[in-house]
Amino acid sequence: MIAEKLQEVEEKIAAAKARRAPELTDDVTLVAVTKNHDVSAMQEALAAGVTNVGENRVQEAQGKYEVVGPDAATWHLIGHLQTNKAKQAVKIFDIIESVDSTHLAKALDKEAGKIGKVQDVLVQVNLAKEPQKSGVFEEDLPELLKLCDALPHLHLCGLMMIAPDYEDRERCRPLFRRMHEIFMEAKEMPFAASNIKYLSMGMSHDYEMAIEEGANIVRVGTAIFGPRQYGKTPH
Ligand SMILES: *Cc1c(COP(=O)(O)O)cnc(C)c1O
Repeated sequence: MIAEKLQEVEEKIAAAKARRAPELTDDVTLVAVTKNHDVSAMQEALAAGVTNVGENRVQEAQGKYEVVGPDAATWHLIGHLQTNKAKQAVKIFDIIESVDSTHLAKALDKEAGKIGKVQDVLVQVNLAKEPQKSGVFEEDLPELLKLCDALPHLHLCGLMMIAPDYEDRERCRPLFRRMHEIFMEAKEMPFAASNIKYLSMGMSHDYEMAIEEGANIVRVGTAIFGPRQYGKTPH
C-alpha cells in the first residue's frame, strides 16, 4: 500500500519536473512526512526506497529514531521548534527546515556547538503573513539569513515555505513563484559559509505545482501514508 502510493507520488514528481521551465533543472528530493504515523509506517516507506523522512515534533521523532537509527534515513525537522527542544533536535535531525527566529538560530548554534556539530538549517518564510503560521516575514529574511551565515555551528542551505490552505490551489502558484524569486535572490547574497541550494515547498495537495515553480524539496505525508492517525500519537 505505502509502496504503491510512493510510486504514484514519484511518478507525479517526475511528470512535474518534465513540465518545468528549462531553466529549472534541479533534482527534487522527496521528504516522506511520517508525523502522526507509527514507526512501522516509516519502516515500510524506507523499505520501499524512501531516503528522507520528515517529522514535526522532536519527541515523536525521537521514538522513531531510536528504533530505526540515524543511518536509515536523512532526518528533516519540518515543524516549529521551541528553543527548549533545541538540544534534542540537534542530536536527531540532519536538517532543520524550520528556523524562524534569531532566538532559535542562536539556541541551535549553541547546542550544535556543544556536541561538535555543524547543523544544516533552512530558514522558514511566512510569505503570506498568516498569523497562525510560523516563519519569518520576507522583510526580515535578510537579517536572519545573515545571522545563520555568521553562526559557526549552523550551515545555512536554503529556504522553506508552507503555502496557505486556499481551497483554490491555483491561488498558491504566485506564492510559489515569488518564493522561488526570493530563493534566487538569497543565492546572490554575499555569504561567508552558507550554500543556498534547497527550496523546500509543496505538500500532498500542491507538490506538483511547487515543483513546476521551482521547489527542489517537497514534503509529502498524506499522499503516501493516508490520513494521519492523530489519536495514536505517543505524546
Ligand atoms: C504535515 C506537514 C507536511 C505534510 O503534509 P501532507 O499534506 O500530509 O502532505 C508538510 N510540511 C509540513 C511543514 C507539515 O507540517
